[in-house]
Amino acid sequence: AHLDRIEQVEPKVRAFLHVDREVTLEQARAVDERIRQGEKLGPLAGVPIAHKDIFATRDMPTTAASKILEGWRPPYDATVTARLRKAGLVILGKTNLDEFAMGSSTENSAYHATHNPWDLTRVPGGSSGGSSAAVAAYQAPLSTGTDTGGSIRQPAAVTGIVGMKPTYGGSSRYGLIAFASSLDTPGPFARNVMDAALLHAAFSGHDPMDSTSIDAAVPDVVEAASNADIAGMRIGVVKEFGGEGYQQGVLNRFHDAVELLESLGAKVVELSCPSFTTALPAYYLIAPSECSSNLARFDAMRYGLRVGDDGTRSAEEVMALTRAAGFGPEVKRRIMLGTYALSSGYYDAYYGQAQKVRTLISRDFEAAFHQVDVLISPTTPTTAFPIGERADDPMAMYLADLCTIPSNLSGNAAMSVPIGLADEDNLPVGLQIMAPVLGDDRCYRVGAAVEK
Ligand code: GLN
Repeated sequence: AHLDRIEQVEPKVRAFLHVDREVTLEQARAVDERIRQGEKLGPLAGVPIAHKDIFATRDMPTTAASKILEGWRPPYDATVTARLRKAGLVILGKTNLDEFAMGSSTENSAYHATHNPWDLTRVPGGSSGGSSAAVAAYQAPLSTGTDTGGSIRQPAAVTGIVGMKPTYGGSSRYGLIAFASSLDTPGPFARNVMDAALLHAAFSGHDPMDSTSIDAAVPDVVEAASNADIAGMRIGVVKEFGGEGYQQGVLNRFHDAVELLESLGAKVVELSCPSFTTALPAYYLIAPSECSSNLARFDAMRYGLRVGDDGTRSAEEVMALTRAAGFGPEVKRRIMLGTYALSSGYYDAYYGQAQKVRTLISRDFEAAFHQVDVLISPTTPTTAFPIGERADDPMAMYLADLCTIPSNLSGNAAMSVPIGLADEDNLPVGLQIMAPVLGDDRCYRVGAAVEK
């Protein structure tokens, strides 16, 4: 049924980069067989899922939406895809994204843009916009994404679904094509909080293949999602996120959500986290710096594209031609920014300074979590913007991440849940729920309360 639905709406939504009916049905038959053999599979056995095309899948291409990896088939599975296969989920296909997850609209894909199912002239958010659109358009009940600066929460918010960024290190980066290694975090998309929790639980947990994986028990997010009792919980509204630059309809829904939480017995207070206003510039130094280092591996020798290798050119010339042809404009912009910020003489002024800001942000979170159990804010300042509106204006595009980035810099858990439609445009609005490191269960509990 989901494959049929994909066929039906895909010409309009364009959420996928790769769908292969036969491979999917083959997987489904194999799961059937395992169940017949009496294998005990988890609660999601047989449930179809779409994966962001940044997770390695051994039976489907993996491109990160870049021309430099066009047609590349990995010889192995990412830990996330491997664990979900083991749990009996069936892969519907690979979803579109901004090239190497760099962007907030999925317009930076080297292949095509994805359209927001709520209004096809608008973006589905990014970078995991194919995954959010696929779930919102009922092409898939579940999908995976990655959140480096907001790429799960922001697309979830603007397509009216649930998206969760687990605690950094709580979900494995092994087999995930790297963008910014100290920030990249795999997480779930679903149409409700419980579905997201089941998916979260199915792929998270310690992985010896990822050196930054946390070796601690994952909080019971499924139990939390079924326990919507928030009476007595202390909830902090981040003072810095609101006001100027925010769409009125977004603020209206946010205020409604605050009232709802209070009526459910939570104690809501306003809190100041002054360093959060410096998160965006710090992120746009740290993420490009790590990207410039990570993307050095695309050297025309090891993976994918190779341009100009006709026997007359040096390896360096082939490398330069390949990278010039294979990377899109946003990726090149970030490699240049990052290389500059890391170069000797500038390192201390830019990268070093940004790392100090990162510490201040973690301290603000720590101080806040001494006073409250979770922090809340709108997930994004505006609803989904029109395709093309910010495509040539990187600074305007970067503003979409204003509220989401602090949690990436400090590594704590954060979720976006739908809280209705904005008055001006009838488009979905998301509530961001931020919890301490390894406090993922609190996001699910508050999310479930809001949903009810
Ligand atoms: N929009 C942010 C960026 O372009 C975040 C991307 C992400 O989380 N992958 O870097």
